[in-house]
Amino acid sequence: MSRFFSGKYASLKAYVPGEQPQDRKYIKLNTNESPFPPSPIAQRMAREEAGSLELYSDPAQRALREAASQAYGLPAENIVFGNGSDEILSFAFAAFCDEERPAVFADITYGFYRVFAEANRVPWREIPLKEDFSLDAEDYVGAGGTVFIANPNAPTGIALPLSEIERIVAGNPGNVVVIDEAYIDFGGESAVGLIKKYDNLLVVQTFSKSRSLAGGRLGMGFASKEIINDIDTLRFSANPYNVNRMTAAAGVGALADKGYLRFCTERIKATREKTAAALAALGFRLTDSSANFLFAEHKDIGGRELYLALKEKGILIRHFDAPRISERNRITIGSEEEMEAFVAAVAGILEEKRAKKTGEADR
Ligand code: PMP
Repeated sequence: MSRFFSGKYASLKAYVPGEQPQDRKYIKLNTNESPFPPSPIAQRMAREEAGSLELYSDPAQRALREAASQAYGLPAENIVFGNGSDEILSFAFAAFCDEERPAVFADITYGFYRVFAEANRVPWREIPLKEDFSLDAEDYVGAGGTVFIANPNAPTGIALPLSEIERIVAGNPGNVVVIDEAYIDFGGESAVGLIKKYDNLLVVQTFSKSRSLAGGRLGMGFASKEIINDIDTLRFSANPYNVNRMTAAAGVGALADKGYLRFCTERIKATREKTAAALAALGFRLTDSSANFLFAEHKDIGGRELYLALKEKGILIRHFDAPRISERNRITIGSEEEMEAFVAAVAGILEEKRAKKTGEADR
């Protein structure tokens, strides 16, 4: 820390993204990226836009809002775009939380929520998930603050039915309820359709997972015109050109290419089910994931131990050194071949461990 860093950030612990080591080629199953490249239409549109980079991007985001309006059947004034969905989430913490309205979220959920709250210097409160990592909607009725729920949740992958989401939105008429649907295209029911009915709902989605644009940085928010205007007030006070021209063009292409979205998500869902079955056969306990990752533990090997053993074999998965979940790992669903290699590596590690144990017992 320099001697100039504001004291207000002295205790801020920054979010730690999944590792991106460069020492060798890894099978990367640790940051929930897509194994597929972006839609060919998105790629072509981004390439064409490169020739216009001398000009600023459109601060009103017209082409993107129009394309999303078409794709989701909502007026363009109900939609906003961010530099990744993280940016929209950050704006939501800044815009809708304060001393009277703390941020409220689950104890096990997207780790960035806590950092957004701290960075924006707003109070926050956690509500523990149940023993099996499920979320009880009743716990959030009259939450007394701005609610943030990832649906499906991360890193558990568990989805809440739309009726439960609606119960939470209806149960907090005086506060904004933010539903973070980063993984909704892999399962679960979107709450976007509830925007017309509730003026306190903000739904956030990302292009980083199902639309293969993690490196493009693009996220979108759906809400009442008034909530969108509040977010725009902050967006125009921070960076009106928050979405660059190439990413905006890629986003328009990705929104138009519904067939490619369906192809990618169907493939990833099929590979998820196959991998889950293979891991269960190896003795893993898994949550019921509706996302593009699995969340697994094994009684014979610790979470950290498995993560390290796989890293040595050139496979990265995500281990969280956090209460309640340190014995588990989050495994992104990659390509069919990557997941076969992953399952084979895991089987080998378990076998080695068993052989070693038997050897020790015989000695
Ligand atoms: N929400 C959740 C639940 C996530 O897991 C992620 C990905 N780390 C994000 C939001 C942010 O995604 P992005 O900023 O790439 O849109």
